[in-house]
Amino acid sequence: STTSSNKIVVANWKMHGSLALNQALITGYLHGLQSLPQTDVVVCVPYPYLPQAQSLLSSTRLGWGAQNLAKYEQGAYTGEVGASMLQDFGARYVIIGHSERSTAYCESDENIAEKMMVAKRHGLTPILCVGETLLEREAGVMERVVGKQLETIIRLFGGEAFAGAIVSYEPIWAIGTGLAATAEQAVAMHQFIRDTVASADKSASASLKILYGGSVNPQNAVQLLNQKEIDGALVGRCSLDVEQFIKICQAV
Ligand code: PGA
Repeated sequence: STTSSNKIVVANWKMHGSLALNQALITGYLHGLQSLPQTDVVVCVPYPYLPQAQSLLSSTRLGWGAQNLAKYEQGAYTGEVGASMLQDFGARYVIIGHSERSTAYCESDENIAEKMMVAKRHGLTPILCVGETLLEREAGVMERVVGKQLETIIRLFGGEAFAGAIVSYEPIWAIGTGLAATAEQAVAMHQFIRDTVASADKSASASLKILYGGSVNPQNAVQLLNQKEIDGALVGRCSLDVEQFIKICQAV
């Protein structure tokens, strides 16, 4: 749970999986995690597999969630999935604003902010993704870019929006590229994120978890996950391989 001081490792399966493959992955995760009580693990699955996650994970210490949600409660929104639907299947987490969505589907910072509040209203823990492009990093404006993503939420809903939430720092240039941020780059941004939230709401910032995501693998996880500023990881590709995923969890 987000109230513990454990590190959190979130598997983001993206649009991968099948009933058979998911079963094998989850069985493998559960087996490998038996000896790792100090790591909290969450699996974010494609929508149709929420009932499968619920039935396989209900009596375990693993959490599950979705990779997106609608900003609306319900209504004539073809193809959308609402927060109460996620709740029906026991989801406690939802990824919001992943760059694979915000660039491909032109999701605005305002939309993302509204989704975060819908999730919170329904008792779901939002996993809010923020991060800069390579051009933005090369231009040295990464803090301005991430700052704007956070300030939109603070302006619309106040700093308390971050209480008990999860932010994942995901430099876009690091996602799926094999080129992770260095621990120094991640730590600097994590400090900036916590300071930005703290200047709006100090107690919210104290209960906020900040993860790193982008090409996390068993090798770089050791450095990244042992920084005190880094509360865990969001793992894409390596979450599809039980052995690599468990090694990442072991790196904590
Ligand atoms: P990756 O994905 O681990 O495959 O880079 C990370 C992410 O999208 O969060």
